[in-house]
Amino acid sequence: MSGAILILSGPSGAGKSTIIQRSAPHIGPFYFSISTTTRPPRPGERDGVDYYFVDVESFERDIAAGEFLEYAKVHGNYYGTSLRPVREALEEGKLVIFDIDVQGHRLAREKMGEIITSAFITPPSLAELKRRLTERSTDDEEAIRRRLQNAKEEIEALEEYDYLIVNDDLERATEEFIALARTSRLKPSRAERVRFRERWLERE
Ligand code: ADP
Ligand code: 5GP
Repeated sequence: MSGAILILSGPSGAGKSTIIQRSAPHIGPFYFSISTTTRPPRPGERDGVDYYFVDVESFERDIAAGEFLEYAKVHGNYYGTSLRPVREALEEGKLVIFDIDVQGHRLAREKMGEIITSAFITPPSLAELKRRLTERSTDDEEAIRRRLQNAKEEIEALEEYDYLIVNDDLERATEEFIALARTSRLKPSRAERVRFRERWLERE
C-alpha cells in the first residue's frame, strides 16, 4: 500500500463536507471514504454518494462478517467505514479521506496509525455551531440538541488530533485543509520507508 489517510472529525455542522467539496479540485487524486449508516437520509442526500444507507440488520451482518475497518454508534445510529474500498484506494496510491467521529478516529489509529494524519474541524464556538445547525435546517430540534451535546463530548478529544482547523472564515479553512491534504500524502508507512532506503542504497 502506498497511499495515505487523512481523517477529519468534528461536530456535525462544523463544515467538513463543505470544506472537502471546495478543496476537491486542488488536492490531487483522492478517495473520499463513503461510510455506511443506519441513519435515515436527509433531504438531498443520495445513497452511494453521501452514505450507503442500510437497515440495522444489514449493518450488524457486516459487523459480524468483519467488513468494517471501524464502526461506532453516533447519535443513536450506526456509522462505519468498509475496509475493502479503502484498501483498494490505498493500493492505487490515493489519499483516502475519512469524515468520522472521535471513536472511529481512535480505532483507525490503532489499525493504520502509521499512515494517518488527522485534523479536528470546528466552528469557533458552541454558539456558532448551534446557529449553523439551526440554519442548515436538516435536523429537527431534538436532533440538534443531541448533536450539540455530542459536540461537547467530542471536543474533549481535541488533543488526540494532529491539527486543528477553526472554520470561521470558510475561505481560510479551505486553504488550511488543502495544505493539510497535500502534506498528509508525504507520510510514508514504515514498509515504504524501508523499501525506499533499500532502493536508495542499491543505486550507488
Ligand atoms: P458537516 O459536514 O461538518 O456536518 P456542513 O458542511 O454540512 O457540516 O456545514 C454545516 C452548515 O454550515 C452548512 O449549512 C454550511 O453551508 C455552513 N457553513 C460551513 N462553513 C461555514 C462558515 N465558515 N461560515 C458559515 N457557515 C458555514
Ligand atoms: P452525520 O449524521 O451528521 O452525517 O454524521 C454524524 C457523525 O458521524 C459525524 O461526527 C461524522 O463524522 C460521523 N461519521 C460519519 N461516518 C462515520 C463512520 O464511518 N464512522 C464513524 N466512526 N463515524 C462516522
